[in-house]
Amino acid sequence: MSLHILALDAAGAPHRWINTRGAALYYATNMVAWEIGQHEFVLRGGTQRLTGQRSVIRASSIIAIKGRNHMVRQFGRVPTLTKQMLLARDRYICAYCAQRFPFEQLDMEHIQPKSRGGADSWMNLVTACKACNHRKSNRTPQEAGMKLHYVPYVPNRHEAFILGNRRILGDQMEFLMQGVPKGSRIHLDTYRGRRPAFASTVVVSTALARCSPAAVCTAQTAASATTAM
Ligand SMILES: [Zn+2]
Repeated sequence: MSLHILALDAAGAPHRWINTRGAALYYATNMVAWEIGQHEFVLRGGTQRLTGQRSVIRASSIIAIKGRNHMVRQFGRVPTLTKQMLLARDRYICAYCAQRFPFEQLDMEHIQPKSRGGADSWMNLVTACKACNHRKSNRTPQEAGMKLHYVPYVPNRHEAFILGNRRILGDQMEFLMQGVPKGSRIHLDTYRGRRPAFASTVVVSTALARCSPAAVCTAQTAASATTAM
């Protein structure tokens, strides 16, 4: 996964992760309300025929988008669950043997077995290694005599943004962590371990046909920007 820009709504609620192409379009159409990122993506477009200049857009690593269409509604809605997010929530640690494993050696395990009505939900799923998952089989933890070493919980919106992206810049992480409840497991060690080393400026080159006049060129450049990282 390449580096992404964190898009907020105008009130500062996390809206979505966007690629540089999407960010360039917001800049080119004057849809960026404000920006607070400490890092910069440099988007280089094509050369303008009239001036011979190459167009450049500088995008912040955190931007807020104007307009009611981009306002986050249902702020408290339960985040969509994915395997990546669940394993990240549980810090890649098996709930039954408490050992840490690589992603591919872990499963999503239903505490109340799915075949017996257990839901695919944040509260009924935990991370388990394949051996423990196989051993527990179609039983509850009580029936299997297997104790849970941690309890499941539903991450809030800010935490879900962290769990859903493996490559987060330091300033983006600090912004999102401000909205994560103190009781979240993410405070323990996961995000410190994932904090990346990065340059303060990220250069993104674009291959773009020549264009004119300048105003049109800028908009087309933005719409055509592609990630080259
Ligand atoms: Zn295990």
